[in-house]
Amino acid sequence: MAAMLAPERSVDPHVQLFPCPVRRRYAWQLARYGAPLSRWRRALLSGEDGTSRVRALLRVAEEETAYYPEAFLGAGVSWRDLRGIEDLAHFPTLSRATLQERFHELFARGVNGRDVNEGWLGKSSGSTGEPVRFFMDGESIHFFSAFLKFLWERLHLGQLPRPGSTGVVLLCTLPRSAVYETWLPLFRGTRFRKLHRAEPDAEATLQRLSPAVITGDPDSLASLLEMDVKVKPRLILSSAFALSRELAEALRRRTGAQVVDYYSMAETGPLGWSCEPGSGRFHTLLPAAVLEESAGEIVVTNIRNRLFPLVRYRTGDAGSIRAGTCPCGESGTILDALSGRLASRFLTREGVLVDPSQLQALLCRLGVRQFQLIQRATGDVTLRHHGGPEPDVTEVRHALERLVGGAVTLLTEPCAAPIFLPGEKPLVYRSERVGCDVQP
Ligand SMILES: [Zn+2]
Repeated sequence: MAAMLAPERSVDPHVQLFPCPVRRRYAWQLARYGAPLSRWRRALLSGEDGTSRVRALLRVAEEETAYYPEAFLGAGVSWRDLRGIEDLAHFPTLSRATLQERFHELFARGVNGRDVNEGWLGKSSGSTGEPVRFFMDGESIHFFSAFLKFLWERLHLGQLPRPGSTGVVLLCTLPRSAVYETWLPLFRGTRFRKLHRAEPDAEATLQRLSPAVITGDPDSLASLLEMDVKVKPRLILSSAFALSRELAEALRRRTGAQVVDYYSMAETGPLGWSCEPGSGRFHTLLPAAVLEESAGEIVVTNIRNRLFPLVRYRTGDAGSIRAGTCPCGESGTILDALSGRLASRFLTREGVLVDPSQLQALLCRLGVRQFQLIQRATGDVTLRHHGGPEPDVTEVRHALERLVGGAVTLLTEPCAAPIFLPGEKPLVYRSERVGCDVQP
């Protein structure tokens, strides 16, 4: 998401922590991406099976990259062998470690400086902690607009927002991340605004913008419930980690919006969406990506990006894939029991899982640039922080004690390097006591 949306003017340059690629040529965006994105929207709505697109991707991988010919040869396969999607299972998988080691060999040969400028060279740590570099081409970045328009039609949300109105607000509670606004020529010339919960007049700003779409991670979206605003977005889009049924329902009641949880990776963009948040059930985004299951792990072939093909990429996320009909009536490939998307909960003395993000407002006032709170045992918490002076954590400790219901030793650990890098899923709260893969 952040990659798609370029800062046109930064509202507060002092908090520019996660700089995004700058893209100013909006007419160029329309000319270059308008038609391909319309095709993507139609393809998503048609539910085509994507076989010919996968063949084309495998052909590019085999003929234009340095990595895949050897990998395909080793598995005794060629792009010509693919007759149907099910044949993909014979192709070799790509691990995060290989993506990291062979990064340069995964680019298609024709990729030039202009393609790189249009795209995004990202870095992600993901859930496994192995950092990976990847490249997202321009079309994959702007795919998000096609995804929005697809959901708009699929969920019968009526007219798209008017040009010049606020199309999308990205709500954020991460400490001191950049806020900015820009135009979205590919989402009907609406405006985009990244809004930080802690910025001055956040409530008045949100009220004034009255966006058609509000997006963010569940912790950020939960802050909507505490804000004194009356906004009526048509769509609330949650990502990054699992959105609970309760929070989805509370957001729907509060705003009247359709609430959708979507599954996405930094390396690929959106992969699936859930018509029933909290169900763990997602419609896959065929024909933009093929999702398979290998020994309980989700494996992704990303059809969008032919400049940096990811064929059978092992995501590290656990889940199962089946063909079937969803209770909403749509049949197709369904991703079930998705877990491993990181939603950290802390454990109380009574053994109850609680949401530590209630401390977010307090933590934001510490005066550090980034922080991470780690529960090592029930009464043993470490605050890692980056930037700013050594914070006074007395209030945070008291709040933690109320949260876990007992005495807490709070250690602080200053970090010279940033804790979160651009493009990472930021894990602000981690519990080593209960593992960090807890599904709420
Ligand atoms: Zn459904």
